[in-house]
Amino acid sequence: MRVLLVEDELRLVENIAAALREIAGFAVDCAFDGREGVHLAGNRCYDLIILDLMLPLLDGQGVLRKLRADHDRTPVLILTARGEATSIVELLDAGADDYLAKPFDLGELVARTKALIRRGNGVAHPVLRVGDIELDTIQQSVQRDGAAIDLTATEYHILEYLMHRPRVIVSKRQLLEHLYDYNWERHSNVVEAHVSNLRRKLDANVAEPSIETFRGRGYRLSLREPLQA
Ligand code: CA
Repeated sequence: MRVLLVEDELRLVENIAAALREIAGFAVDCAFDGREGVHLAGNRCYDLIILDLMLPLLDGQGVLRKLRADHDRTPVLILTARGEATSIVELLDAGADDYLAKPFDLGELVARTKALIRRGNGVAHPVLRVGDIELDTIQQSVQRDGAAIDLTATEYHILEYLMHRPRVIVSKRQLLEHLYDYNWERHSNVVEAHVSNLRRKLDANVAEPSIETFRGRGYRLSLREPLQA
């Protein structure tokens, strides 16, 4: 999952980015003013945007209006400060999905972030299921055909990304952009190894192969839905 954080207070940016990376395992890009935020949002595909209201060059409300005017449907979590003139109702009307008032608990921010991403992907329930694979986004645990599978953090995040897009070919670049921060290019040669380890673990005791490779195009989670009894 990849998050864009638009906030001008350096200390807060560092704390939020660290929490999202370390607790949730997300890739985080940071913009320090509203115009940079709009620019990054327009050039990349994010799973969530965390947007402060008081920003240099273009304020948070302006950023939100610009995104929605450009038909960008990425979920937006607004950070508000005490004494700000903009009302919550106005923000929600302008297309915000949730808000958090400063000062906030970083654990709560991470929890809200995860919930918004699940909703943005059309999955309200924290457990994802594709075929006989089950992934619990709260416990960060995986089962196949009822048996627990032990994955590394990177393998888990690859599988989570694929499970949000079943039966769709996901390119290596898409995976890289969602797994790593800005300098994702340098990880490019390790993704294949992670995917092949993930596939080996998933398919260890099961006949149906889980992840297909399309040379030069990417990967696809290809499990059939189980037949209804
Ligand atoms: Ca600010």
